[in-house]
Amino acid sequence: MQHMIRFLTVPSAGHPRFTPPARYSKLAVQLVCCAILSVTWGCRPPQNHEDRVPGGSERHTSLSTTENERSVNQLPKVSPQVRSKSITNVPQNSAGQADTSPAGTARGSDSNHHLQATNTVVNPQLMSAAGIRKLGGKHITLYTDLPHQPSIDPLPSVFDAAVAEWCRYFQIDIQKTADWHLHGYLIQNKDRFITAGLFSDDLPPFLHGFQRGSEIWFYDQKSDYYRRHLMLHEGTHAFMNHFLGSGGPSWYSEGLAELLGTHHWEEARLALRHFPQHRDEVPYWGRIKIIREDMAHSGLRSLQQVVDTGARDYLKVNPYAWSWAVSAFLDGHPAYCHRFRALQNYVTDPLFSQHFLDSFQTDWNQLEEEWQLFILNLVYGYDIPREAVIFQPGKPLSKQPATVIVKTDRGWQSSGIRLETGVSYHLQATGRYQLANQLQPWWCEPNGVTIRYHQGKPLGILLGSIRPEGERTGLSQLAQSKIIGLQQTLTSQTAGTLYLRINDSAAELADNLGEVKVRIQRLTSSKTPTSGKLN
Ligand SMILES: [Zn+2]
Repeated sequence: MQHMIRFLTVPSAGHPRFTPPARYSKLAVQLVCCAILSVTWGCRPPQNHEDRVPGGSERHTSLSTTENERSVNQLPKVSPQVRSKSITNVPQNSAGQADTSPAGTARGSDSNHHLQATNTVVNPQLMSAAGIRKLGGKHITLYTDLPHQPSIDPLPSVFDAAVAEWCRYFQIDIQKTADWHLHGYLIQNKDRFITAGLFSDDLPPFLHGFQRGSEIWFYDQKSDYYRRHLMLHEGTHAFMNHFLGSGGPSWYSEGLAELLGTHHWEEARLALRHFPQHRDEVPYWGRIKIIREDMAHSGLRSLQQVVDTGARDYLKVNPYAWSWAVSAFLDGHPAYCHRFRALQNYVTDPLFSQHFLDSFQTDWNQLEEEWQLFILNLVYGYDIPREAVIFQPGKPLSKQPATVIVKTDRGWQSSGIRLETGVSYHLQATGRYQLANQLQPWWCEPNGVTIRYHQGKPLGILLGSIRPEGERTGLSQLAQSKIIGLQQTLTSQTAGTLYLRINDSAAELADNLGEVKVRIQRLTSSKTPTSGKLN
């Protein structure tokens, strides 16, 4: 049975505007203003982690303790506005900032190097009297009041393994890290560290973790995973500040610390930049949950909004989740990862955010659109490469029907066909493909299977969307798909390229096998049914 479907366009009123050129101009003006202010006030280019909260380097607030997996079937609210203020993260270096120089670097070359590399003087007698023990590693000496445990004692090994990973990611010759050594303080009872002189008066209040020079402090956590995560997060800051000279603006610095703090540790092997596959893998991490709750409460944050997040906003935990999401998305996306990784070359540049905008200017619209899809469909195990949209502007269909192939193991794919305004098209889909391979293959046809639903529609069913070319506002049309199934008649209200995919979780594309053939025929006006026409 054929149905007439009208593809609705989203009104732009009240939705964020995605107009990089105009914003870009505004940014340029503001950057000039910032530069002028810098000259006026005699600010120097940053030497270290800029745009921090006054008086401190890294603070982390607590995360929720349990994941509350919720369906995100409903279309989200879109945030009402993009802030007019665009650059809040121009590198700056406030006076009195505790984290302004890589303390102790290259100040020691002998056996005293480790002690000289830190500001805190360790008194073994006081330490022992306070019940604090020392765990030694190549790149970190960890002081803790926690007892011997299988999850605590290997922490220096975890840190040492991370150094090699950081070197690889930031392309630092590992030979240069030979003398790099931190002191870390893993705290269960703060009073013990105060008594032992390992928690100095000038440390600002912090809830979870803090990094300054070649020292990191972090409180014990309720999960082994999140304790390691905090150590690696603060370690990433220390590494970037020391070897790159800065961490860059807050969104980037915290994003990379989150990206490189999110890890997998198993059988003494460490993998950084790990995209969690399941919530049980990362207890108390909670980033995905935070983003879902933020979206339900205040709508989707645009990329620009995340980049605009100022240092003071990082007194809450939510911006850490969004910064992680931006970094994980850009770093994991085949079209964007090289440009994202190149940003590390600009961390000491006051025009860092200008470089960011410059490098993504040509495809900013696509980037924001894919960002929307990523956030709207964010799940544990999200397969960023397979979900990467295959963009291609469509061409009008001649009188002859055309057949296009839809890969079942990919996200949205352009059909290469442009549907014209007010014209009806008949789509007929055929094919038999595999949706899963656990225990036994799940076979499926374009009308999907009804034993399992995804986002309110049968799993595996063929979906379609008409994506207008050119400037775009509001929510992506690809976030508003319609069912095609075995066959469908489409009449578009606006011209655009037909995109197709099957309905499946962004975490479960890899085990799909096969393809769908879709025959697309332009209907003449005499063949166009009139009953059921919605537009
Ligand atoms: Zn941080």
